[in-house]
Amino acid sequence: MIEIKNKAECTGCHACYSKCPQSCIDMVEDKEGFLYPNVDSEKCIQCGLCEKVCPILHKAESLKVKKVYGAYNKNNKIRLQSSSGGIFSLISQECVSNDGICFGAIYDENFNIVHKGIEKEEEIYKMRGSKYYQSIIGSSFKIAKEKLEKNKPVIFSGTPCQIAGLKSFLDKDYENLVCIDIACHGVPSSKVFKKYINESCKNNEIKNINFRDKSISWDNYSIKINYKNNQDFVQLGKDNLYIQGFVNDYYLRPSCYECRFKGIDREGDVTLADFWGVDKIKPDLYDKKGISLLLINSEKGLNLFNKIKNNIYYEDVNIYESIKNNISMVESPQKALRRDVFFKYIDKVTFSQAIELANINSNINRMKVYLKFKMYNLKNRFIERD
Ligand SMILES: Cc1cc2nc3c(=O)[nH]c(=O)nc-3n(C[C@H](O)[C@H](O)[C@H](O)COP(=O)(O)OP(=O)(O)OC[C@H]3O[C@@H](n4cnc5c(N)ncnc54)[C@H](O)[C@@H]3O)c2cc1C
Repeated sequence: MIEIKNKAECTGCHACYSKCPQSCIDMVEDKEGFLYPNVDSEKCIQCGLCEKVCPILHKAESLKVKKVYGAYNKNNKIRLQSSSGGIFSLISQECVSNDGICFGAIYDENFNIVHKGIEKEEEIYKMRGSKYYQSIIGSSFKIAKEKLEKNKPVIFSGTPCQIAGLKSFLDKDYENLVCIDIACHGVPSSKVFKKYINESCKNNEIKNINFRDKSISWDNYSIKINYKNNQDFVQLGKDNLYIQGFVNDYYLRPSCYECRFKGIDREGDVTLADFWGVDKIKPDLYDKKGISLLLINSEKGLNLFNKIKNNIYYEDVNIYESIKNNISMVESPQKALRRDVFFKYIDKVTFSQAIELANINSNINRMKVYLKFKMYNLKNRFIERD
């Protein structure tokens, strides 16, 4: 029976919850707001499937990258609505227009982020855009399996740990399944985001939240909150407290700081990331509307790419060069030195006060991340030469 003794060893992927033949596992929120499995020992039949399916306890081999592109969707409107180059929308469009189902993260009516499957083109917009807290898998693995067994084309997109969880749950390869992993810095909990938003929206009802608004530019993005009273809140990411706490690793899930799914080898048939640093590496590709780094990691990924390639602009890039400015793809974030202080006070003080209390050693922390980044680049220069 699965028992989480060390929280860093559970990503909350829901594989155990989905696999349990007795349905006796609940995903229960801890005081930081992250979900962990809790087994009802009365109902448990000790079959051991929950441990067997765990992608942390039994990590499968990842896929080797085959091709790497700097790329963007030729449709500027969709590209501007997307976080990076808008490649995901083309993938989901290709899927649903061929009678398929595409799974990804959407907001529910309470602004929880939940994984759902969509089958209509009109619904793709709900999945568009990076949402910066953890999405809840719920029953989406089980639904995806039902659809796969009925031979329906399935696209499943998610963070690398979610894709690893799905593949472990399915336990076999399906020809009609293509997995997309998004590059992932790490995930905060919805509890933390709701604390921030409840204090900053001052009772205004929210219509939409865009964490990657490109009104200024892709690489100088803003957080934009639309309220039902038609007033908007827009703030540059670099000035916004929530985004800053996120990128400085104050409140990520414990497993994110020891992520087992970082690296050039990937969980998805296709990987989607931001092509940070494109202006230096491929200046001709760079504009302010957003460029994706697109990794093709399998034959299935290549087939999918061939189906959408007429609708994208793309150029070959070198993997080592292109990830130099995207350390999150390959290295776990460094836990903020005073993360525990943030969570100690989160229920007692305001969001900004909790950040302030946790902030004291932030310069030291930033220096540690910088040094790690430099070391990584140095190490890879040697690997490239070998
Ligand atoms: C939590 C988080 C951290 C990220 N960290 C990095 C990073 O370090 N480096 C980097 O290059 N890019 C990062 N990204 C961005 C990611 O690379 C882009 O979303 C991706 O490049 C796809 O962009 P797009 O323009 O093709 O399509 P978009 O339309 O912008 O992509 C939407 C896709 O993101 C998925 N998605 C959105 N929110 C979530 C969520 N909370 N959980 C799971 N899936 C979600 C949707 O299901 C859909 O598949 C992160 C995204 C998220 C959600």
